[in-house]
Amino acid sequence: MQYRVLGRTGIVVSRLCFGALTIGPLQTDLSVTEGARIIRRALAAGVNFIDTADLYGTYPHIRQALQGYSGDVVIGTKCYAYTYDDMRKCVERALKLTGRDYIDIFMLHEQESILTIRGHWEAMEYLLEAKDRGIIRAVGISTHHVQGVMDAAAVPEIEVIHSLFNITGIGIRGGTRDDMLRAIGVAAKAGKGIYGMKALGGGNLLKKPEESFDFVMAIPELSSVAVGMSTIAEVDFNTRYFSGQPVSAGIRALVRNKPRRLHIEDWCLGCGQCAERCRAGALTLSGGKAVVDSSLCSLCGYCGSVCPDFCIKVI
Ligand code: SF4
Ligand code: SF4
Repeated sequence: MQYRVLGRTGIVVSRLCFGALTIGPLQTDLSVTEGARIIRRALAAGVNFIDTADLYGTYPHIRQALQGYSGDVVIGTKCYAYTYDDMRKCVERALKLTGRDYIDIFMLHEQESILTIRGHWEAMEYLLEAKDRGIIRAVGISTHHVQGVMDAAAVPEIEVIHSLFNITGIGIRGGTRDDMLRAIGVAAKAGKGIYGMKALGGGNLLKKPEESFDFVMAIPELSSVAVGMSTIAEVDFNTRYFSGQPVSAGIRALVRNKPRRLHIEDWCLGCGQCAERCRAGALTLSGGKAVVDSSLCSLCGYCGSVCPDFCIKVI
């Protein structure tokens, strides 16, 4: 496994980051014990970086995975809070549920531009205070937007940018893949630590994982890339590939043959909240039920977080 320093933070991260969204209730909904087992497999293979979020519901899995583990592990997390008090609660929740007395990287979740960053500035002020108190090591934003990266590059307080990036550009908002690459270059020159997400397009690029991984690994500005994994085979495939080790045909077959799709339960009441939440425009209502256009869906699972009846799953 290779490691990089994340911008000017001094935080050293493995180039493969364990993306924890996939093991949690928004996606495969693994038990805490099974999720912890998957994480531990990745740690044993050299991964030292876990990306999660308040939304993902995976703090307990991470806590269990770290119990009795002696290596240093970097946790990056994020939440939607925009007030000082709500961010304080988010940070306290992360500390309590992960069982740690600090969080390495805390970010404003899903920022779009300087306008949303300004709109969350109270929350950022709490993060900066928490950093002064040693509860947080670095602050940042996550974004799917080219403008989000560009604007964050110019904000001195932002040290880390967690940006969507992949070979086809699927899911990138407000520009093309190459626009995002230019924005990442600008941010790196400004000293920001950058780590990618959705290298496999939320599952849409699973047919060509090597090409997709090679592409993001060749971008020097990306210190690390968060990849969602929910099976031992996926962990073995990804850790071996990122470490330059051969991947057996058996592991490849296990990963390749795992089918995935967005599943909407038939008890959907057609309230439309998921369609409003989906920023990709992949959900519409038809016949009183939500319907997904899989060509637009990145399998991010965010729509599942707003469904009052837990109808939506990535399976
Ligand atoms: S339909 Fe759901 S999973 Fe698909 S892109 Fe939209 S929010 Fe994400
Ligand atoms: S939020 Fe849930 S119940 Fe409402 S339309 Fe979407 S899937 Fe159906």
